[in-house]
Amino acid sequence: MPELPEVETVRRTLAPAVGARIEAVWDSGKPLHMQRRPPRAKLRALVGATIVAIRRHGKYLLVDTDRPQSLLVHLGMTGRFCIVDAATPRANHTHLVLGLDARELRFVDARRFGQLDVVERARERLHPALAVLGPDALVDGVDATALVTLAKRRKTTLKAFVLDQSVLAGVGNIYASEALWRAKLRPTKRSNKLTVAAAALLAAAIRETLENALENGGTTLSDFVAADGVAGENADYLWVYARAGQPCLECKTLIKRAVHQGRATYYCPTCQTP
Ligand SMILES: [Zn+2]
Repeated sequence: MPELPEVETVRRTLAPAVGARIEAVWDSGKPLHMQRRPPRAKLRALVGATIVAIRRHGKYLLVDTDRPQSLLVHLGMTGRFCIVDAATPRANHTHLVLGLDARELRFVDARRFGQLDVVERARERLHPALAVLGPDALVDGVDATALVTLAKRRKTTLKAFVLDQSVLAGVGNIYASEALWRAKLRPTKRSNKLTVAAAALLAAAIRETLENALENGGTTLSDFVAADGVAGENADYLWVYARAGQPCLECKTLIKRAVHQGRATYYCPTCQTP
């Protein structure tokens, strides 16, 4: 599932679309996330608009036009948002095509957990998907004191806390495990026990984890590729995620896998104090 570094990688590789005029819009009409159909009339009304910027908040992309509207895109589990030559054959599961000049922006999503919508930029923070998001984990970050205040209020596990998009937007399952290993904190530790010192380590660990993953072009475990079709290399640099039974790269203890709230968590029982 793409997380912040993967979505940011896609955003950067889509940069060549900025400045292009949307000449045509096609959508598959198939329902995506939560069985919702993308708003066909609003999508088609984007014809004639020029793309002026592509932004990201957490795992959401916003394609800004020279009109008051932006296209909102979430990659879900298997979504790909790419820029290709218009002559490239359409892949199966293509759900949106924005015809530019000789190129097309295409949204392809086999499992259809992705989201497409058109938002009014002036009121985008009221959109249900964006309204719940906290500060962006990479661009905005959060300091240790703010993190402790939020952690005390939540009374959950640290793993669930780091995954909470209203705390920090963009951190998903892979990087939550990675960041907690870096901060040497056990995922099952209660969030209201987080000290300011530990919160400072955690805030730094989240940032380093995301920055390193971004430098490596994101993590490709099965599906993820950047908008130009290149797979990320960060899977070769993971400390704990998907490494159950393998030795910790720091202390050689075997990495453990546990399931919390239906999601796999990986940790080192020696390095990460309960
Ligand atoms: Zn260890």
